[in-house]
Amino acid sequence: MKKIIITGGAGFIGSHVVRRFVKNHPEYQIINLDKLTYAGNLANLRDIENEPNYRFIKGDIVDAAFIQNLFNQEQPDAVIHLAAESHVDRSITNPLEFVMTNVIGTVNLLNAARNTWKGRYDETRFYHVSTDEVYGTLGETGMFTETTAYDPHSPYSASKAGSDHFVRAYHDTYGLNTVVSNCSNNYGSYHFPEKLIPLAIHNIKQNKPVPVYGKGENIRDWLWVEDHARAIEQIFHEAKTGSTYNIGGHNEWKNIDLIRLLCKIMDEKLGREPGESAKLITFVTDRAGHDLRYAIDATKLKEELGWTPSITFEEGLEKTVDWYLANEEWLNDVTSGHYQQYYQEQYANR
Ligand code: NAD
Repeated sequence: MKKIIITGGAGFIGSHVVRRFVKNHPEYQIINLDKLTYAGNLANLRDIENEPNYRFIKGDIVDAAFIQNLFNQEQPDAVIHLAAESHVDRSITNPLEFVMTNVIGTVNLLNAARNTWKGRYDETRFYHVSTDEVYGTLGETGMFTETTAYDPHSPYSASKAGSDHFVRAYHDTYGLNTVVSNCSNNYGSYHFPEKLIPLAIHNIKQNKPVPVYGKGENIRDWLWVEDHARAIEQIFHEAKTGSTYNIGGHNEWKNIDLIRLLCKIMDEKLGREPGESAKLITFVTDRAGHDLRYAIDATKLKEELGWTPSITFEEGLEKTVDWYLANEEWLNDVTSGHYQQYYQEQYANR
C-alpha cells in the first residue's frame, strides 16, 4: 500500500490530480493536504470525498513543525506538491506571501521528506509541480525546453523558480528522489474565476466587461487540465529520479484571439447574435513586467513516455464553457465574499 500526500489538492489542478489518483489507484491512500486559502475549495472534490482511499487534512505548508509532525504520523511514501500561491497579479501586490508558501513551504516539505525517508530514497518520491513561467519570456520564435535557462520576471515566477531550484538541490545534495515538471497554462473545470478563461466566461454570461491586458497581444500555450493531470500521473510513475519534464499542448494563442473564440462559443451557447459577446471586450492597462510569449516544447515527454494531449483546444474550450454553464452554484459560491472584494480592488479603477 502506497501512501501519497498531494498538497494543494483543493485547488484547480490539484483537485484534478487527486480525483485521478483516487479513481485510478484504489491501491494507494491519498491524503489531500491543503490550507484552503481563497483558491482552495473542497467542493471541487465532492464526487470523491467519501472514497475509502481518500482523506483531507487541513494544514499550512509554511508551518515547519506541523509538516514534520504530519510526516512522522502518516509516514507517507510520496509527495506530489501542488500547493502554491498561483496568481501573478496577487504576487505583484503581495510578493512575500508567495515567498512564504512557494519557497519556504516547499523547503519545509523537502526537509520533512529528507528526515523521514533517510535510507530509503529509492522507495520514495518527491514530485514538484511547476510552471513554464520560470523560463521568462520568448520573442516571436523558439520554445522552452527542459534545458532553457531560468529567467523569471514576476514575483510569482521568481518564487516558483526558487522552489524548483531547491527541489533539484535536494536531489543533487542529499540524493532525495525528486521529479520536477514545468507546465504551460491550464484551463478547464474548477478553475478559480480570477484567471483569464473562467473570468471571461463568468463576465460574458453576466454581460459584464471582459478585461484584456494591453492590446491582448500576449501569447500563452494552453493545455486542458485533465491532460496535465494525466501527464503528472505518468511522470510520477515512470520518470527517473532527478529528472525534469516540460508539459504543454503545442497550442499557442494570442489572448485577444482566445477571447474572441470564447465570445463566439458563448454567443452560440447563450443564443446571442454573433458578435454580441465580443462587444464586452475591454482593454485594460497592461500588467507590469508582462511576459510576451510562452511556448513549451514537450518533445521529451512525448518521446520518452509517449504522452500527447487528448483533445484539441476548441473541444476543450467548449467542454469548459459547458461545465461553467452547468455549475452555476459552484461559481456563485467561489465568487462571493473574499473574491468579490479582491476583484473590485483589481478592476475598479480601470
Ligand atoms: P490554485 O491557486 O488553484 O490552488 C492552489 C492550492 O494550494 C489551493 O487549494 C490552496 O488552498 C493551496 N495552498 C495555498 N497556500 C497553501 C499553504 N500555505 N499550505 C497548504 N496549501 C496551500 O493553483 P493551481 O492553478 O491549481 O496550480 C497548482 C500548481 O500548479 C501550482 O504549484 C502552480 O504553480 C502550478 N501550475 C499552475 C498552472 C496553471 O495554469 N494554473 C500551470 C503550471 C503550473
